[in-house]
Amino acid sequence: MDVSQNARGGYLTSRLNDMIGWARKYSIFQYPFVTACCGMEYMATACSHYDVDRFGAGLPRFSPRQSDVLFVVGTISHKMAPVLKHIYDQMADPKWVVAFGVCTCTGGFYDNYATVMGIDTIIPVDVYIPGCPPRPENVLDGLMKLQDKIQAQKQEV
Ligand code: SF4
Repeated sequence: MDVSQNARGGYLTSRLNDMIGWARKYSIFQYPFVTACCGMEYMATACSHYDVDRFGAGLPRFSPRQSDVLFVVGTISHKMAPVLKHIYDQMADPKWVVAFGVCTCTGGFYDNYATVMGIDTIIPVDVYIPGCPPRPENVLDGLMKLQDKIQAQKQEV
């Protein structure tokens, strides 16, 4: 059915867009690309005390083809960069990327020849969560920002 032809003034189309956005923001299947010490805080956030299940983000996937949010957690070296790009390319659209920790966002204090100075030099990033490491509360804040972004965008189906 062509929904737009059956709607008056685009009402049905916009409601459909909102509904798909709502469904997508509460069904986040994350791929944890964990390389360094930030992983401890990533695991702490996943524990029952912070309860990421209430955001629909409690089930990590370890196949990029089954994931829609790539969580990049920890320092990325230039040797690792092609692997990260390959994982990102394997994910189906729509997909989003979260940079977790200052190393991932900017390279952090690793100002040297081996470290990527921010993963946005390799792949697009939707949400940056700074901190070394970020506290779980920061992670939840980033997760909610991601949900807002997913809800607000035009939903491709
Ligand atoms: S931001 Fe800090 S805790 Fe996270 S990977 Fe870098 S050095 Fe480790």
